[in-house]
Amino acid sequence: MPTIDPHGGALVQLLVEGAAADALRDEARNLPRLVVSERELSDLELLAVGALSPLTGFQGEADYHSVLETMHLEDGLPWAIPVTLSVDEDGAHRLAGAEAVALTPAEGEEPLAVLRITEIFKRDRAKEAQAVFGTEDSAHPGVQAQQQAGDRCVAGSLEVLSLPPHDDFVEYRMTPAETRAEFDRRGWRTVVGFQTRNPIHRAHEYLQKCALEIVDGLLVHPLVGATKADDVPPDVRMRCYEALFAGYYPKDRAMVSVFPAAMRYAGPKEAIWHAICRKNYGCTHFIVGRDHAGVGDYYGTYDAQKIFERFEPGELGITPLMFEHSFWCNRCEGMASPKTCPHDEEERVSLSGTKVREMLRAGERPPQEFSRPEVADILIEAMRGN
Ligand SMILES: [Zn+2]
Repeated sequence: MPTIDPHGGALVQLLVEGAAADALRDEARNLPRLVVSERELSDLELLAVGALSPLTGFQGEADYHSVLETMHLEDGLPWAIPVTLSVDEDGAHRLAGAEAVALTPAEGEEPLAVLRITEIFKRDRAKEAQAVFGTEDSAHPGVQAQQQAGDRCVAGSLEVLSLPPHDDFVEYRMTPAETRAEFDRRGWRTVVGFQTRNPIHRAHEYLQKCALEIVDGLLVHPLVGATKADDVPPDVRMRCYEALFAGYYPKDRAMVSVFPAAMRYAGPKEAIWHAICRKNYGCTHFIVGRDHAGVGDYYGTYDAQKIFERFEPGELGITPLMFEHSFWCNRCEGMASPKTCPHDEEERVSLSGTKVREMLRAGERPPQEFSRPEVADILIEAMRGN
């Protein structure tokens, strides 16, 4: 039994195999080529495996504006952030009149996919930045990435020859079809997904376990595509997750797999986008904490939770589980949140991100009420390496 239907009803699968792949590879040799940026390569991978179902390629102008204006595709299905393939003016001229283009990960590399071009349209940078990020400030990492991308977008459906190659986290790379099969094998009917780009401290462990109390299984789904330079590198984070899972998570109720997306730092819009992706991976529930996918102070603390109210009940399909920030309380003698603990601030063990980084850099473990010692040691070790 499937846990939940994919967004739009059917799981998209764009990988071409067998004789059809040979024919496509031959065709690709004679097509104009386009080098795809690291971020858009992540999107290509998500599209290929159906993580962005029902999309079957890079979006066209009508959907682009519809998503920016209404948070819905033209056909009415919820969608929060456009998925586009950028090209500069020169590239657009080069592709004018072409019916298809071969997409490569770098100059001189073999094509990964063929895009059947339906249109090339002009990006509305200001509108897109405001709608997705709520700002046009070039200090915002998402806006910055958008400004570096080309002025035009090439739209069309994709036929994929192979996924972008990865030599890391190989055993953790599961497609939506694979996570769905694994949930089924484990007999999970309800699964909560947890998006993360950070090491997991006690607070997030607590949210995950609170959520797990009401569902069958937990999918910790760390994002491993491009992030900003000062985020903790994915290999270090993965060692933290492994240590946590080895010591503190029940094997038959929790699993880790990686999410190959790039981080957009779009706060509320990205919370919706992340939830829809996790629905495609088979999650029935999704944890939304404070300032989900936020950066700096561009978004209000609860914006990423409140945005879910802008959809009709059942419209998204996946159920968001909203959480307050949590902490260890000495009086409660346990993890708690402002919802469940009546005590004063001084009873609560809470540290700022800056303070935690300072301690780790000094080779000092944060209190065990804040961070599991195994996780602290991995982070201390990683800081030493830098
Ligand atoms: Zn308390």
